[in-house]
Amino acid sequence: MAIQLFVPHFRINECLEEIRECLEKGWTGLGFKTIEMENKWKEYTGLPHAHFLSSNTVGLHLALHMFKTEFGWVDGDEVISTPLTFVSTNHAIVYTNLLPVFADIDESLCLSPENIEQKITSRTRAVIFVGIGGNTGRYPEVVKLCKDRGLMLILDAAHMAGTRLNGKHVGHDADCTVFSFQAVKNLATADSGMICFPDQARDERVRKLTWLGINKDTYSRTYTQSSYKWMYDVDEIGFKYHGNSIMAAIGLVSLRYLDRDNAYRRQLVKWYQNCLANNELIRIVPIANECESSCHLFQIRVSNRDEILMALNEYEISPGVHYRDNTEYRLYNQAAGTCPKAHLASKEILSLPMHMSITERDVQTIADALKEVIKSKAG
Ligand SMILES: *Cc1c(COP(=O)(O)O)cnc(C)c1O
Repeated sequence: MAIQLFVPHFRINECLEEIRECLEKGWTGLGFKTIEMENKWKEYTGLPHAHFLSSNTVGLHLALHMFKTEFGWVDGDEVISTPLTFVSTNHAIVYTNLLPVFADIDESLCLSPENIEQKITSRTRAVIFVGIGGNTGRYPEVVKLCKDRGLMLILDAAHMAGTRLNGKHVGHDADCTVFSFQAVKNLATADSGMICFPDQARDERVRKLTWLGINKDTYSRTYTQSSYKWMYDVDEIGFKYHGNSIMAAIGLVSLRYLDRDNAYRRQLVKWYQNCLANNELIRIVPIANECESSCHLFQIRVSNRDEILMALNEYEISPGVHYRDNTEYRLYNQAAGTCPKAHLASKEILSLPMHMSITERDVQTIADALKEVIKSKAG
């Protein structure tokens, strides 16, 4: 059987039990399990606030929309981002009529603090840092840089459920952290995410904005009787971005197993590292020292990547590429050539299969096939 890149592993009976509770209660929407998921996520991460969303993409949009309106940023103000990410990160900047300015990456595949610094102008307002594969790269230096330069820092933690830095879950030192619980992420639902602000006022505002701007809090302060449910106020335009109880039900089960699953992912990485060590044609993307990565991805670099990828498909092994340099896309190609390191990485990176059904033997099989293919292509 073919070895796939990602296969979500759902604990089906537990998921069905959680979903059954929603159906029996007749509550599948916002509230109930979404609140339970938020509470469990706060408990797990230690983050003070968390709001459950329909995706990470909407969370990135919300974060920028909220900062833009709060601080009076104007259209065309700049947000520094990475070209080596899923397009959501950069689309969120465009949704908000802000301008993505691409900074280059380092060997961790995350943004380089020096390169961010070079891209700062008088119109720079924020930085979005993406922890590729769960890796933190040089994130602490980026935190410091943003503080020093008065820039808002958004952490796109789509790959970082369970990533710890110096023993602490990531997300505590960003102005906003957004997680993804999409189907192939390491905490899988089908589609959902979590937005975490360090401060209560923004958490309250985001709850309102994810439900069309409907000010339920004012309602609940003013009217306690259910007959006044329609008496809410709307004081700013919001979106339909909140998550629902069915997704939260699945998320609660995935969260229960997150540490166990991530530990297995780290074991897979160790097996890969052992099998691929001492091969100068394979470079393993390094994980930061203080980082206990979620290991959402295991990435290597090889020089003739496209050929190798095709050849591995013949061995029924399906690796992936995370990601294509976004400045190659027509939408972003006015920035083509501005990030040579990301551009080169984009042609060399390969993500090897990472999921709960991969065994030590599979890792050996994949590594042997990879070495075989590389040898034949190099010779
Ligand atoms: C998956 C992903 C997103 C988008 O997450 P959704 O929950 O699918 O919207 C954003 N950024 C990165 C880096 C991702 O991998």
